[in-house]
Amino acid sequence: MATPSARTATELGVPAVRPSDETRPIPLQMAPKRRGKPPKHFADLTPEERVASVVELGEKPFRAKQLAAHYFTHFTSDPAEMTDLPKATRESLATTMFPPLIRPTKRMEADGGTTVKTLWHLFDDAKVESVLMRYPNRTTLCVSSQAGCGMACPFCATGQLGLTRNLSTAEILEQVRAAFRSLDRGEIPGGPARLNNLVFMGMGEPLANYKAVIETVRALVAPSPQGLGMSARNITVSTVGLVPAMRRLTDEGIPVTLALSLHAPDDDLRSELVPINTRWSVDETLDTARRYFEVTGRRVSIEYALIKDMNDHAWRADLLGEKLNARGRGWVHVNPIPLNPTPGSIWTASERSVEDEFVARLRGHGIPTTIRDTRGSDIDGACGQLAAEEDDE
Ligand code: SAH
Repeated sequence: MATPSARTATELGVPAVRPSDETRPIPLQMAPKRRGKPPKHFADLTPEERVASVVELGEKPFRAKQLAAHYFTHFTSDPAEMTDLPKATRESLATTMFPPLIRPTKRMEADGGTTVKTLWHLFDDAKVESVLMRYPNRTTLCVSSQAGCGMACPFCATGQLGLTRNLSTAEILEQVRAAFRSLDRGEIPGGPARLNNLVFMGMGEPLANYKAVIETVRALVAPSPQGLGMSARNITVSTVGLVPAMRRLTDEGIPVTLALSLHAPDDDLRSELVPINTRWSVDETLDTARRYFEVTGRRVSIEYALIKDMNDHAWRADLLGEKLNARGRGWVHVNPIPLNPTPGSIWTASERSVEDEFVARLRGHGIPTTIRDTRGSDIDGACGQLAAEEDDE
């Protein structure tokens, strides 16, 4: 008997729109082409290295802690604001330790100013974007970990760019500091606030830039003044499913939330939607995600962009439910998101009724399922829409 997994969409009479019909497949790129490195920055260093660096500059060791407090507690790298440092050395110390790394060149707002997308220029003119979203009782920043992305997912705008390069730890942390700063200074409607949530769902595949991303996470969770004092559970690392890096993350002992961009429960389709699937299969990836839950106790999120007539069939919802339940209960929840359109793609979001059926099927299998919001889609700031374009109107 044919199981749902053995059936293809075509066999089921569903007109399958294949990525290859409309987009030239772009090659997977695991590592960037060699590029110059951004200047070393205070935020690239461990607390011990920060001390060593200030001593090397002829300063007392405790200056490192003062600089850390300016950067991580007051969100500043401006020497004029560092009045507890001797005037004579303030300027040179700050300019050496905090070289400018990212420069905002465009800011777009939606939702009455509570959603803000910023385009950043990096030292070598590479471009990335971050999106700050303020909700009534929480604030979330979506950061980029790479300029471009090498994962080549055909429905994602960033995936069409290819990989320019990895960001350094400080280039990622500077996006975070900017968000903390603008919330702290009351620049986002709703009064001063702190950043509560951080998602690595901007440009790039975070686990393909593992070292910089994990060092960023360490600084995010380190208590003040050596870090931003965020809670690991409020940090989400989203991945296409780089299995070896997922295993490495499992063993770090930092219980961040892991999001797995699955988008299809069957290898046939997933290999088209998420090309890395040709290297690590759905089953292998789900097993690795399940182990993440066992070791960290953190429930894994499965991301699933609902694409009309592509991956939104009821049988795929059933197959997904079965595959998740085969690995136990209570370890996972599913976050379907209606596809956000990207330029040049003929794909669209699933019909509302199809989306409802997909969700109902998963819930029928006992899988907690919540539709993810598409905040920022009106400023091309929603999931999968970041392309760092600069078409200035
Ligand atoms: N590379 C990582 C993180 C960046 S993408 C990853 O793939 O997980 C963040 C999320 O947006 C992922 O779940 C991704 O699959 C999803 N996404 C990409 N393009 C999208 C689109 N056009 N509409 C909706 N979600 C999309």
